[in-house]
Amino acid sequence: MRHMPEGDTVWLAAQRMNQALTGQELTRGELRVPQLATLDLTGQTVSEVISRGKHMLFRFADDHTLRSHFRMDGSWRIHASGQPWRGGPAFAVRAVLSTQRWDCVGYRLHDLAYVPTANEGSLVGHLGPDVLGPEWDLEQAVARLSRDGDAEIGVALLDQRNLAGIGTLYRTEGLFLAGIRPQRRVADLEAGVLSALVDRIRRLMIGNRDHPEQSTTGSTRRGETHWIFERDPRPCRRCGTRIKRGEQGPPPNQRVTYWCPTCQP
Ligand SMILES: [Zn+2]
Repeated sequence: MRHMPEGDTVWLAAQRMNQALTGQELTRGELRVPQLATLDLTGQTVSEVISRGKHMLFRFADDHTLRSHFRMDGSWRIHASGQPWRGGPAFAVRAVLSTQRWDCVGYRLHDLAYVPTANEGSLVGHLGPDVLGPEWDLEQAVARLSRDGDAEIGVALLDQRNLAGIGTLYRTEGLFLAGIRPQRRVADLEAGVLSALVDRIRRLMIGNRDHPEQSTTGSTRRGETHWIFERDPRPCRRCGTRIKRGEQGPPPNQRVTYWCPTCQP
């Protein structure tokens, strides 16, 4: 089953794009979306590529920034110059950023935007502390989570305005490991419990960010990488209770969630 990429996936993709592009002059720079189709980035020098939550930011030496977002289905592929592109059909290509050595091809990208770097805040300023960012602030993340005490914790963790980068996988597995049912109200969890939960999720993401595999159990064996995520209706790997699956969040933004009725009372 596909699910929306998590912050660690975007972080790793940004690292790879940063290695391929930073300091390089673009020999080709096309954006194949109507609102940016006339923008030609050829000749621009890339100064860095970073992730901010689940957004990717390409900063250019002329103080402009290109933002892309994967949402459910996007990807950036890096091909050696002259080699065939393998990320999907040509009609799915949304961006081509080439150097003498590499063709970086963006497939099914969303939310492409190009702004002066000084105005990046208009694109990502609403985000809470970035779980994998250099300026991570646990206290602020917990404070933001606590603002909406009536929210269910499983919903609040996915709200990128509270903290940026968590998706359904780490939300689900983090709550399992902390023994907290996703439907519990934020206000019913003490600050220390919230803080430990967020810190645990961040450690899971850091443990996985350098490679594409996402294990929350320490095992990389097929079928053993997660505790409960996408494992219903099988028994909980810890206690044997049948794993439950449900939806959380206001329509139309319901997201699937999983829990163990015994381990998460
Ligand atoms: Zn259990």
